[in-house]
Amino acid sequence: MKTVRENLEQLSREIPSSVKIVAVSKTMPVGKVMEAYDAGQRLFGENKSQELIAKQPFLPGDIRWHFIGHLQTNKVKYIAPVVDMIESVDSLKLLKEIDKEAAKNNREIKCLLQFHIASEETKFGLDMAEAEALLNDPGYRELINVRLCGVMGMATFSDDADLVRKEFRNLKSIYDDLKRSYFPDDQSFSEISMGMTGDYLIAIEEGSTIVRIGTGIFGKG
Ligand SMILES: *Cc1c(COP(=O)(O)O)cnc(C)c1O
Repeated sequence: MKTVRENLEQLSREIPSSVKIVAVSKTMPVGKVMEAYDAGQRLFGENKSQELIAKQPFLPGDIRWHFIGHLQTNKVKYIAPVVDMIESVDSLKLLKEIDKEAAKNNREIKCLLQFHIASEETKFGLDMAEAEALLNDPGYRELINVRLCGVMGMATFSDDADLVRKEFRNLKSIYDDLKRSYFPDDQSFSEISMGMTGDYLIAIEEGSTIVRIGTGIFGKG
C-alpha cells in the first residue's frame, strides 16, 4: 500500500497545478491528516460539522478547510469561525445563515452553489431554475459576508465514463451560464468543484478547477 505522501506526489504529477486538490479527510484521524500536512498539503475537506470541529483544534492553523457535506442551518454557527469555503450551498436560507454567522465572526466565507447533476435521486443540490431564483432574490443582494465563488457537483457513482463525462459537462455549462448572466465582472466567481477519486481525470478534462479526493490520498481508512 502506498503512503499518503506517495499518493499526493502521484496526484501532483497527474493534476495540472492550476487545479486545486482538496484532501478529503472525513473519517481520518488527526495523525493521518498530519501525514498529508507534512507532505505539504494545506487544503482539506470535511463533510460533517461535528467532525470538523472536533479535529480542527488539534491541527495547524494554516490549514484551509472546505466544508463539502450537506449542511443544516443550525450547524453553521459551529463551523463559521474556521471554515474557508462552504462548497455545498443549496438554498438561500442556508446562504443567509452563513452570512449571519460570518458577520458575527467578523469574516467573509467563500461559498459554492451545489448542483444536482447526477441521475441518482439521493444527492443534494440545486437545479438551474432554483439557482436563478436564489440569485434574483433581493435577499441575496443584501448579503455581504459571503462570497459566491462558483459551483460544485457530484457525478453519478458509476463505471459509465460517458455518463459521468456528460454530467460534468452539464455542470461546466451551468457555470458558464451563471458566469455570463450574473458574474461577468466578478473575478472571484471562477471555481468549478468536480471530480473525486474515481473520476477526477474526466472532471479535469471537462474543466474542473477543484478536485475533492479522499480515498485516493488516505486509502480506504
Ligand atoms: C467523500 C467525498 C469526496 C471524496 O470521495 P473519494 O471517492 O474518497 O475521493 C468528495 N466529495 C464529497 C462531497 C464527498 O463526500
